[in-house]
Amino acid sequence: MTTLFISDLHLEAGRPEIGVQFLDFLSGEARDADTLYILGDLFEVWLGDDDPNPYYAGMKAAIRELVDSGIPVFFMHGNRDFMIGDEFATDTGVTILQDPELIDLHGEKVLLSHGDALCTDDVEYQRFRAMTRNPEWQAMMLAKTIQERIAHALEARQGSVEHGKSLDDEITDVNQGAVEALIRKHGVDILLHGHTHRPAIHEVRLGDRTATRIVLGDWFEQGSVVRWNADGPRLEEMPR
Ligand code: MN
Repeated sequence: MTTLFISDLHLEAGRPEIGVQFLDFLSGEARDADTLYILGDLFEVWLGDDDPNPYYAGMKAAIRELVDSGIPVFFMHGNRDFMIGDEFATDTGVTILQDPELIDLHGEKVLLSHGDALCTDDVEYQRFRAMTRNPEWQAMMLAKTIQERIAHALEARQGSVEHGKSLDDEITDVNQGAVEALIRKHGVDILLHGHTHRPAIHEVRLGDRTATRIVLGDWFEQGSVVRWNADGPRLEEMPR
C-alpha cells in the first residue's frame, strides 16, 4: 500500500487548472492509497471556516468523498491556510495534525512539517508567524466580517509580496541549523516538508549519521507528490 504526501497546491478559483488536477487526484490515485497527508498550503488563503467561498466548498466536498470512501486524510496547516479549524475538519472528515508531527511509516520514524517554521533566517516572517498562530489573534480575526478579513488578507499579502522581493533566495529557504536541530530533537532519520517550493531530496549530515530531508514541490506548473510504499519514498512530479 502507498501513502501519499502533497503540499503547496495553493488552490484558488483564479487558477482552476490546479483544482482540476487535485480533483482528478482525489478521485483517482488517492482512492487506491493507504492514507493521504496534505502538508499545508492546500488553499491560497483561508479566511475562516465560515467563508462561503463556493470554489472552496467544492474542494471540501471532494475531500469528504475521499474520506467517505475509506481513505484517511490528514491535514497540517501551512502559512496560507493556518486558519483552517474544527468546522473544516468536521465537514471534510480530515484529521488536523500539529506541526511537526511524528509518524511511523513501514518501521521508519518520519517527521512531517509544513516547513515555514524552519525558515528562521527570515526574522520578520517568524514574527508574523508567531502572531498569527496565537489563538487570541485568530479569535480577534474571526470576530471580523468576511469582507473585513478579505481586506486584511489583501493588505497582508501586499506586505508579504514586497517583503519577499527584498529577500534573497538564501533567506527564504530553510535554515540548515534549524533543520539539524529539529531532526536531532525528534531523533528521526527522515524529515518531510513543503513550503519552499524547492522539490528535492537532501542528505543532512549529523555528526556520525546522515538523515534525509525530502521537500515537496508546489502545484503551479504540475503536481508534486511523495509516494511511499514498502520500498521507501519516491518524490515525483505529476504532469498535467
Ligand atoms: Mn507555505
